[in-house]
Amino acid sequence: MNEVMDMNDIKSMTMEEMEEMILSMGEKKFRAGQIYKWLHKELADDYDAMSDLSKKLREELAAARPLFGVREIRRLESAKDGTVKYLFALHDDNVIESVLMRYKHGNSVCISSQVGCNMGCKFCASTVDGCVRSLTPSEMLSQVYAIQKDCGERISNVVVMGSGEPLDNYEALLRFIKMITDENGLNISQRNITVSTCGLVPKIRTLAKEKLQITLAISLHAPNDEKRKALMPVAKAYSIDELMEACRYYFDSTGRRVTFEYALVAGNNDGEEDAMQLCALLKGMGAHVNLIPVNPVTESGMKRPEMKNCERFRDRLIKGHVNATIRRELGSDVNAACGQLRRSHLNN
Ligand code: SAH
Repeated sequence: MNEVMDMNDIKSMTMEEMEEMILSMGEKKFRAGQIYKWLHKELADDYDAMSDLSKKLREELAAARPLFGVREIRRLESAKDGTVKYLFALHDDNVIESVLMRYKHGNSVCISSQVGCNMGCKFCASTVDGCVRSLTPSEMLSQVYAIQKDCGERISNVVVMGSGEPLDNYEALLRFIKMITDENGLNISQRNITVSTCGLVPKIRTLAKEKLQITLAISLHAPNDEKRKALMPVAKAYSIDELMEACRYYFDSTGRRVTFEYALVAGNNDGEEDAMQLCALLKGMGAHVNLIPVNPVTESGMKRPEMKNCERFRDRLIKGHVNATIRRELGSDVNAACGQLRRSHLNN
């Protein structure tokens, strides 16, 4: 997938790039700081709001640098837990989804990193039609901004766990992380950002070298190569051994423990032998495993195990000294899982 970076896209520009742009327009350098603040702190959607800029500059900017945001086309709020699922349209009418989850420790937003996905995981609704295109940094930022404005409360956590493979959109992802954690923007702590990957080993190694304090979550979903290959095509490119080696390298480079996601599929990867293999694999890593009873997706035919089987699986891991929890399900009444809202929109 091509990395998308349109340098006309002002909302994807760093402060330094904006300074360069503003100087080239014959303006004073400090104007860049004003514009940056309007875009990334005040979350302005149009130039008219930028009241400390001259009308002439606002008009010039509007003509040369159209603002790309996201447009809400559907909003579903869970009656159970206040989770809100958003369907957003992009400027080219592609559609993505994002989720607001409310926790005691703060508001967390789950964003998409691509329109669709190329990774082909068998249980995932986002990948059914492949990847249409990657999102720009501004489109990733705009999901968080739109949701913060909609809920009227500060967003403290971001998880890049919506549609798409973030490490398949690496440059845009890094820029997004830099900008969302910038003190001139929303200033979210790196520690409150989680990036989830299906396990693109070379990119994990590259990311390790950036020495960010974000949390890396690995979608493991199976305890051995054979089963993993059947669920996730990426496992044909990289073995579990290579993946684990990259995770250890990530931990050694950043000091940040990697977490693992494991979608439990009834009769597939939820047996006693699976739990034992998983323990052997993760032993001594101090890793945390998030168990997610698989969300049934029409196209996959996969079913979630009964809760008592999920609990048994979890208890086996804990007995094997692997820290594990079953992910609390939020927003189940609003299609909040894994690309389902976009799919039901596309299927209509
Ligand atoms: N491509 C990245 C991030 C997006 S998916 C990744 O693979 O990690 C976010 C998480 O949701 C991943 O762990 C993914 O495997 C999981 N997921 C996707 N579809 C699911 C489903 N139907 N049920 C449970 N988890 C699912």
